[in-house]
Amino acid sequence: MTEEKIFERDDKNYLPVFNRYKIVLERGEGVYLYDINGKKYLDFLAGIAVNVLGHAYKPLVEAISNQAAKVIHVSNLYYTQAQADAATKLVALSGLDRAFFANSGAEANEGAIKIARKFAKKISPDKVQIITAWDSFHGRTLATLTATGQPKYHKGFEPLPAGFDYVHYNDIAELEEKISDKTCAVMLETIQGEGGVYPPKNNYLAKVRELCDKYGALLILDEIQSGMGRSGKFFAYEKFGIKPDIVTLAKGLAGGVPIGAFMCTEKVAQAFHAGDHGTTFGGNPLACAAANVVLDTVPDEKFLSHVEEVGAYFKQRLIELQKKYPEQISDVRGEGLILGAQLDKPKISGVEIVNECMKRGAIINCTVGTVLRFIPPLIITNSHVDEVINILDDVLSNG
Ligand SMILES: *Cc1c(COP(=O)(O)O)cnc(C)c1O
Repeated sequence: MTEEKIFERDDKNYLPVFNRYKIVLERGEGVYLYDINGKKYLDFLAGIAVNVLGHAYKPLVEAISNQAAKVIHVSNLYYTQAQADAATKLVALSGLDRAFFANSGAEANEGAIKIARKFAKKISPDKVQIITAWDSFHGRTLATLTATGQPKYHKGFEPLPAGFDYVHYNDIAELEEKISDKTCAVMLETIQGEGGVYPPKNNYLAKVRELCDKYGALLILDEIQSGMGRSGKFFAYEKFGIKPDIVTLAKGLAGGVPIGAFMCTEKVAQAFHAGDHGTTFGGNPLACAAANVVLDTVPDEKFLSHVEEVGAYFKQRLIELQKKYPEQISDVRGEGLILGAQLDKPKISGVEIVNECMKRGAIINCTVGTVLRFIPPLIITNSHVDEVINILDDVLSNG
């Protein structure tokens, strides 16, 4: 089928909620994708921080194929080894006590919010407030879009679930003002992703942890984007010397197979009893077999130091680009392989920069209209960084 025919079928039949780029992607290998015409693209988006091991990674393909040949799904009414293994690994890695699997990031956060509410209700029936950050992103279900501190995602969906409040990320004084004994949980991304790649500053998360402890509020960290090794540590919170009560994961956790997860302390886990929460698909053997490959690969010390090193090289190359185009790039920020370049009066818009890069064979992302966001597969090397920097250099110089 031709590209035109596929555009036409999709545009006519699919719900028009995505502004799609006009290419049809067909296959991938390592850090490259190929469209239906055979054009090759360097993939510095990784399906939005999902394909952590790149495309068509052999051990992942084999694990999925082997599991599919045995059994894809059995429901959570029974035990499977794949799920028991994945939960055991996540508990060990997180330093928390219990894991639960869902099918997406939003669902993982939804579960985290539910267990926090149930936990706090035992302390006091009016301990329901959940504080999140402006410019955060937590998902698209009604509770998680309410948790998302961006009014554009709320509009038209009211009435929204009650009990949510917002503070500015990195502003500890504002949190100190809003938090109280009525606070059930503070929910933050360890590094803000979709909102423009904002890491915590000035020991912010340690101070948040202290405030949560003071008021008996749970700290929920959303590592759906920043976790799975992307920051250079398996959990980004390890970088900032703190531990949450609940952490959520998704995106890269199964290398591209849909999955979500939350982990929590035993104390929090005790709030849920059989029947309080559930899912039909969540944590099925196929998704967990894929997750087990990621969990056997990414937490390895050598793998994580690779992320740290290639991330540092990439950041340095972006800073060089900023020095060359100071009138177009005003800031470079991020950790490991979640990096952002803040645009400031660029010759062409962020979206146009993305399009021009695509013409030249590189897939990158622009978030909130003004931040070039780089969330590539974690297996990229310095030469891939050079390739994308050369393309960006060309785009920024020519517009
Ligand atoms: C992507 C994302 C989500 C939502 O995940 P979905 O799988 O799209 O539901 C939630 N939180 C963060 C930080 C994310 O980046």
